[in-house]
Amino acid sequence: MSANVLTFFSQQLLRWHDPAARPLPWKGIRDPYLIWISEIILQQTRAAQATPYYYKLTERFPTVESLATAPIDELLSLWQGLGYYSRARNLHFSAQMIMNEHGGSFPKEYKDILALKGVGKYTAAAIGSFAFDLPYPVVDGNVIRIISRYFDLDLAVDSKEGLAQINRLVQEVFVAKKAAAFNQAIMDFGATVCIPKNPACDTCPLQEHCLSFTNKTQALRPIKTKKIKRKTRHFNFIYLHTDDAVYIQKRTEKDIWQGLYQLPLFEGEAFSKKTALKKEVKRSWENTFGLEPIFTHKQLLTHQIIHCIVWEAKLINTSFDKIVDALWIRKEDLSQYGFPKSLTLFLQDNSLI
Ligand code: SF4
Repeated sequence: MSANVLTFFSQQLLRWHDPAARPLPWKGIRDPYLIWISEIILQQTRAAQATPYYYKLTERFPTVESLATAPIDELLSLWQGLGYYSRARNLHFSAQMIMNEHGGSFPKEYKDILALKGVGKYTAAAIGSFAFDLPYPVVDGNVIRIISRYFDLDLAVDSKEGLAQINRLVQEVFVAKKAAAFNQAIMDFGATVCIPKNPACDTCPLQEHCLSFTNKTQALRPIKTKKIKRKTRHFNFIYLHTDDAVYIQKRTEKDIWQGLYQLPLFEGEAFSKKTALKKEVKRSWENTFGLEPIFTHKQLLTHQIIHCIVWEAKLINTSFDKIVDALWIRKEDLSQYGFPKSLTLFLQDNSLI
């Protein structure tokens, strides 16, 4: 690789970058805690959707200590709608780790940042460079796309060799002395110029040496081989309620949505049929009658497809006062609990939250 091509990339990228362009609330800040919160939210969320959550979370939890000492249910409830709830659980866990192992001060060394739960190399590089000028380049999907186009790489980027090649090239174009500026520039470049579909090649500052541009292979880069296999699951939720209250459960199993709340669940395709489900519901709650599907939703997760049906079961002669079960929640209190997306939509549709 000629040195000219490598230095051209770095110089042009830094020259092109305007730190004031694409303003975002977490951009340019040096507080590692706030950067950490923003980076965790951004792991699976676009900037526009992330912004109100960033404000909500940092307002309620302005310090590591406030996050570490908050009940996890409160964090999960605020996280509602963002999905990938393990991010919130990891944030909470790591905040406690910072209190216990670092005396409440955010760690300053790359290895210690990387040791926090939920923090991978990308996030550690972002926090380390933005807060402490640590010389680590960020490598995420955007960076992989830019590099594989600029160098027109024909190795699959989801193979070990392909990723190793990307990492090597990133190290070569990275400007360690300007780590924060370089990382911010490449993030902005991937979000605004070398975007996944229809990159703005005509006005691109890297065009002169971009091999994909020369070879007209932009649309073919990066190459990926693996297709994500998704497992299909059928969730049948039972909406068991009185005039005042709804029966909910906490998801405690090590599974998706751990720590969130749900309506009682019968999982399996067999239970998507009324007769089979009715038998099970009757076995669990004798004082129910009727069973009707009142809401359906299909939720796509990275590795799973969830078919949800909410069935309404009616109760005989039961009022909220007579039921002595901790999981009967007053309808007006439902908004204090975090639910998975499908159930949030159901509760919103029924004006319950
Ligand atoms: S010329 Fe096009 S493909 Fe190449 S880096 Fe620029 S935007 Fe990306």
